[in-house]
Amino acid sequence: MLQHKLIQQTQNSWQQALAEAIRDPAELLRQLNLPTELLPSSSAMTQQFPLRVPHSFVSRMQKGDPNDPLLRQVLPLDAELNEIPGFGLDPVGDHDAIINRGLLQKYQGRVLIMTTAACAIHCRYCFRRHFPYSEQSSRPSQWQEMCDEIAKDSNINEVILSGGDPLSLADTQLSQLVAMLERLPQLKRLRIHSRYPIVLPQRINAAMLEWLTKTRLNTVMVIHSNHANEFDDEVGTAMTKLKSAGVTLLNQAVLLRGVNDNIEALSQLSERLFETGVLPYYLHLLDKVQGAAHFDVERKTARHLLTEVRKILPGYLVPQLVEEIAQTPYKQPL
Ligand SMILES: *Cc1c(COP(=O)(O)O)cnc(C)c1O
Ligand code: SF4
Repeated sequence: MLQHKLIQQTQNSWQQALAEAIRDPAELLRQLNLPTELLPSSSAMTQQFPLRVPHSFVSRMQKGDPNDPLLRQVLPLDAELNEIPGFGLDPVGDHDAIINRGLLQKYQGRVLIMTTAACAIHCRYCFRRHFPYSEQSSRPSQWQEMCDEIAKDSNINEVILSGGDPLSLADTQLSQLVAMLERLPQLKRLRIHSRYPIVLPQRINAAMLEWLTKTRLNTVMVIHSNHANEFDDEVGTAMTKLKSAGVTLLNQAVLLRGVNDNIEALSQLSERLFETGVLPYYLHLLDKVQGAAHFDVERKTARHLLTEVRKILPGYLVPQLVEEIAQTPYKQPL
């Protein structure tokens, strides 16, 4: 049985693993030996934003624990249906920041390309759960136009590939996009915002490392991990590969009630990141998106937690606690 599984894993590509990701909440609960009473009574929110979680990530969840911090991030709950004042559809003002289809600029010197709508995992707290991705993400046929747009502003020296998750695109496409970007002499850095190294580490394969290593641009990858339990040996191997490709590795996390809103969870996350070759970058306050209010941590509590974490960790392992406020020139430190 085990051997059969191993053979399957080595033969299958990451696309295959993605296609096999769990989409049925009842199946997820079954695999974790949890009762189906935990299922939401309505399917309204899964119709709008379906469950999606790769088996690799599920294997790091604790069986029989309904409060597992990894499970909490992906399991749809009835609480999502509550309409709470102050929790809206576009809390970070993405609509206003679009300069062209798929191209967003909020901050000086950096532009963000929404490369695709697809993600390897669906995080219930995601601020983009209501964003009309498919209308807004760029298409390969528009990439040249997008590059021309970037070329107009010589202040831009960094391009951020975001989404969705940019690593959902095939490596043939990504290497083509990077080749186009490289031709802009003003660009110095290529940044990739991705949850793949954590949720589907087999995505970090030879084809990807090739274009990453080859580019003249300085490469930065900002991964997204919220809890130390998200790490296993496979994730460690993926990070080592990225490091050897010369990629600077940073992490952004979201402060989430019931997931990481305590001193131990936050300090263990930082420790684990560093052991794996990643530095903590941002700890985001939850973006106030409709359906995610049950994850919200009060600002006062957030500040207190960070103060306590500062007392036990070296400064370089303390992330910056920030919140995103629409129409401000940088992410606001608290
Ligand atoms: C968060 C974000 C960035 C990156 O901000 P940094 O502070 O440089 O990490 C760039 N563009 C947009 C639109 C963003 O939302
Ligand atoms: S964009 Fe990031 S946070 Fe949102 S669902 Fe995708 S992986 Fe999760």
